[in-house]
Amino acid sequence: MVHLSFYGGINEIGGNKILLEDKERRLFLDFGFPYKRHKLFYEEYLKPRSGAGLLDPLALGLLPPLEGIYRDDIQMPSLWQQFRHIPLYRRLDQVDGVLLSHAHLDHSGHISFLRDDIPVYATSVTAFVTKAMQDSGKSDFDQQVCYFSPAARECPTGWKQTAFVTSSLPRQQRQFRIADTDPRALSPDAIQFWNRGFWEKAAKQKDLSSRPMTSHRDCSFNLRCFPVDHSIPGACAWGIETGSGWVLYSGDLRFHGKRAELSRRFIDEAAALRPKALILEGTNVLRETNVAEHEVYENGLKTINDSNGLVIADFSPRDVDRLLTFLQIAKDTGRKLAILPKDAYLLKTMHLLEPEIPDVAQEAGLVIYQDTIASRYPSLWLRNICQEHDGKIVLAEDVGSAQEKFILCFSFFDLNELPSIRPKPGSLYVYSSSEPHDEEQEIDFRRLHNWLKHFGLRGFGLPAESNGEWQVPDGEKGLHASGHACGADLLEIALEIKPEILIPVHSEYPNFFVEHLCSSKINIVLPTVGGTIEI
Ligand SMILES: [Zn+2]
Repeated sequence: MVHLSFYGGINEIGGNKILLEDKERRLFLDFGFPYKRHKLFYEEYLKPRSGAGLLDPLALGLLPPLEGIYRDDIQMPSLWQQFRHIPLYRRLDQVDGVLLSHAHLDHSGHISFLRDDIPVYATSVTAFVTKAMQDSGKSDFDQQVCYFSPAARECPTGWKQTAFVTSSLPRQQRQFRIADTDPRALSPDAIQFWNRGFWEKAAKQKDLSSRPMTSHRDCSFNLRCFPVDHSIPGACAWGIETGSGWVLYSGDLRFHGKRAELSRRFIDEAAALRPKALILEGTNVLRETNVAEHEVYENGLKTINDSNGLVIADFSPRDVDRLLTFLQIAKDTGRKLAILPKDAYLLKTMHLLEPEIPDVAQEAGLVIYQDTIASRYPSLWLRNICQEHDGKIVLAEDVGSAQEKFILCFSFFDLNELPSIRPKPGSLYVYSSSEPHDEEQEIDFRRLHNWLKHFGLRGFGLPAESNGEWQVPDGEKGLHASGHACGADLLEIALEIKPEILIPVHSEYPNFFVEHLCSSKINIVLPTVGGTIEI
């Protein structure tokens, strides 16, 4: 008998944490950051206390009370006394790994808290994206996926308090086991990227206790990794051969992006396994149709062609396919696509694994926008990117003096640059996020509208408030190709793979599958929070 226990992603989009147990063998399917539940308690100025280690996320129910799976360096000796009596408490001494579906933090973020001897199974691109995101971003203590800063408990003399603080130990990289490529075949540049820390000044660059990638074949389960199309590169679905048959986990996927054929191949190969169970995402069950990536290109091209001033394009920089869509639009409208250094760093990282991703240094359509206000202690990755691409750096004055020559890849959080650029009235702000309400960031649309009004920018594709709801205006909707399949596509996945049991997750309307598949032979089982399904 195989047991599936659901600790996140139930009646919510994101935060997937699914425990698969086959006798004494155990795997987690994703270990994500639960944005929605997090926001029930926290906001920008009220965050879990990093100095309290595991206590806050456990006490707020953001982490499951599973003693034995978390890092020792962030727990007080008495921590578990207060959780041993609660209903979901269990002690788990052995976990064989986490199967990570992709690098979006709602699937990966809470890996940060797991013991570092629990390996992470992923595609090579997902592993590299987790590292690039962490190298070039400010990762909070609850979002350190690729490596983490070991903590030490500090009790200042004469004080009664204690706190977990960053210790002097090197940052510890996690053990990544790669499922889609042979890690021994990686290029020397790729291996160097993986093994080095790039956040400190040059003198301290060895401050990473790195671990070479190894193969997924070391797992105690027979695994299959199926690359799929999603709004971040490297996404995959998983197959796990258990004593009850094959269990499949879709991760997040779609059929209308540039890599749609990957998702189609997943369906064919998954169906051939005659699976016992399929755990399927249902983010967009209520959506009837999809906007395809090529429609984003056509609609974006039309809108930007009509514009004479500066164009700002707002989309998730980790959506590399969207970035390439806007690169094509820039070329076709006689502009340059100006990306931020962290986007250039991600592209450079991707290029190490996928040569068809443009080389930033060679691609004539790309330039790098450098912030106006210099950082006093720039990180090594930033210095490297700017020095390596010296001839491609543009500053606010370059963009400000030739506004019709650029599409600037900015998000809400980059608007601070506008006083330096001084966009001319009539400039355009194209909002092209893959989800009009992003999975990972709560955009303050009201504030964004204020910025646009103040600087005389015209918004396009931007949600506006109408009767208390934020909606993209009619006629401006073709810019948000979602990362997720629509309802009809999800039903097709279920009917073509034909599992004995279908378990919907990552959805606010899991009943959709019950309503639409009741006449099929598929047994739909709805998971509950903390509940276990036996198969
Ligand atoms: Zn995702």
